[in-house]
Amino acid sequence: MNIEEMARFCKKTGMVYPSGEIYGSLSGFWDYGPRGVEIKKAIKDAFWRFFVSKRDDIFGLDGAIITHPKTWYASGHIENFVDPVVVCKRCRAEYRLDHFIEEQLKVNVEGKTLKELIGLINEGRVVCERCKSEEFEKPEVFNLMFKTHIGVKESSNSEVYLRPETAQNIFINFKNVFEVARKKLPLGIAQIGKAFRNEISPRNFLFRCREFEQMEIEYFIHPNDENKCFYLNEVDMDREVIIFTAEDQINMEKPFIGKWRDIFSIIKDEWHGYWLYKTMEFLVLLGIDEKKLRLRQHLPEELSHYSKETWDIEYEFDFGWKEIVGIANRGDYDLRQQMKYSDKDLSVYDEYLKAKIVPYVIEPSFGLDRIFMAVLDSAYSLREGKAVLKLKPFLSPIRVAVFPLVKKDGLDEKAREVYLLLTQHIERVFYDDSGSIGKRYARMDEIGTPYCVTIDYQTLEDDSVTIRFRDTAEQERIGIKDLVDRIEELLESGSI
Ligand code: AMP
Repeated sequence: MNIEEMARFCKKTGMVYPSGEIYGSLSGFWDYGPRGVEIKKAIKDAFWRFFVSKRDDIFGLDGAIITHPKTWYASGHIENFVDPVVVCKRCRAEYRLDHFIEEQLKVNVEGKTLKELIGLINEGRVVCERCKSEEFEKPEVFNLMFKTHIGVKESSNSEVYLRPETAQNIFINFKNVFEVARKKLPLGIAQIGKAFRNEISPRNFLFRCREFEQMEIEYFIHPNDENKCFYLNEVDMDREVIIFTAEDQINMEKPFIGKWRDIFSIIKDEWHGYWLYKTMEFLVLLGIDEKKLRLRQHLPEELSHYSKETWDIEYEFDFGWKEIVGIANRGDYDLRQQMKYSDKDLSVYDEYLKAKIVPYVIEPSFGLDRIFMAVLDSAYSLREGKAVLKLKPFLSPIRVAVFPLVKKDGLDEKAREVYLLLTQHIERVFYDDSGSIGKRYARMDEIGTPYCVTIDYQTLEDDSVTIRFRDTAEQERIGIKDLVDRIEELLESGSI
């Protein structure tokens, strides 16, 4: 699916709508519809089960979207969370300078300074995409955080920010969580929630929006345990993975298919490698095509101000390989900064060393909306020209649909009985008796319903029904008395 097709498909199937569409929509904002919201919720639930509920070292948090503004001075976002912008003199269209240059001059500008970018734009011939003018204002940097005010009077003292990432809530609450957890390091804190960035040119459907959702883990490690991961037995070192190292990028080499042991021989910290592995494992369990996932190491000049080393997990969309999860070694930068600005002690007392220590942090940061797109893209297929969304059953917005073959001769009443029986045991069951049976199957295939149960004339004779399988369109006949167990068994397989 190309990105326009995906956006059209999502609108048609009730997955995602442009926000405020009746007023001409608002660029960079999207509303999830009834089908999309179920998939998104199922991804979040799976994340929580995999990384929080099934582990004993990670705890949850749900922090405020607007928090104390000093947080953002301490984190460096006020100073560093900026993008260069260029504005067309004639029509006032705004472009993110680096993207604009890349697209117009077809050069790689990764890691270039503002001065270098200005040099490039002055040398080359660039035209406004909207009005074709060649004249632009002098480029400037622009902070991506959305500002608002608290209280009645707007003044510089009342200024606050919508969080641009969920991570900082975690750092400022580290001590609170650590104290109730009653665990030693390493200890992780996970959070799912909205983040806001005033992106200059939102694009590619949900890929770059202004309001999006993150699922983040900050994993706090004792400095003495650096590069000594306790969980390497969970890593299959012989599993294959596509790797694109910083060195290969610098030498203009291509990515290569390696093994996880290659990653562990390159990466500075074993814990970092372990979190890359767990993240990849989770993405594959969601049904994302492993052949379309790769690990790309950040170039030194690309690293964020807090990062010692970062790897992205990229997915191959039709518009190229793009980051869906970033996994950074943030060192102890954030805790130290928040301590400095708040004058509060966020360190941990080590009984054994009889000293205070500041843990360092590995951060897997998942973009939920991008993962949603990768899940859809991997699941999408065509059968006889019609869409079949081969979602893992635990992600399907409807898990089982119940149809009477026709809406007469008592088949519809019998079908309602079967529907009610299933709803007592299974969530997201759907009843439909309108239109031809072929059309009803096709509608369910399109939104990824894995199983359809059909009540036909034979049902009235022997109390049996058919289960139709989305991925093969094959059918199985089964007694109603065994139906719940069979469907539960089918739904269970492959779930997280
Ligand atoms: P970052 O802090 O920029 O590394 O972002 C962490 C994750 O959030 C990325 O891996 C993306 O998946 C996601 N993300 C960042 N910016 C956006 C955006 N504008 N729209 C959607 N997702 C985003």
